[in-house]
Amino acid sequence: MTENTTLVGSKVSGRRRRPKAFDGVRICADMGCETRLSRYNRNGTCYMHSPIVFPRVRGRDVPVIDV
Ligand SMILES: [Zn+2]
Repeated sequence: MTENTTLVGSKVSGRRRRPKAFDGVRICADMGCETRLSRYNRNGTCYMHSPIVFPRVRGRDVPVIDV
């Protein structure tokens, strides 16, 4: 008698997670701006009025030395 060591996979079950989305039409929070926001935009403002964030990829911040 041989031991059955065959690994049997199973289908991925369960519900798939939906991407986080906001329902309805939202408009930029900036005064006078009527840009419709994407459903996936987590900010309250459009891209034009969102603060720009530059992600630091690598390295460290070099301190600025005043001469
Ligand atoms: Zn805007």
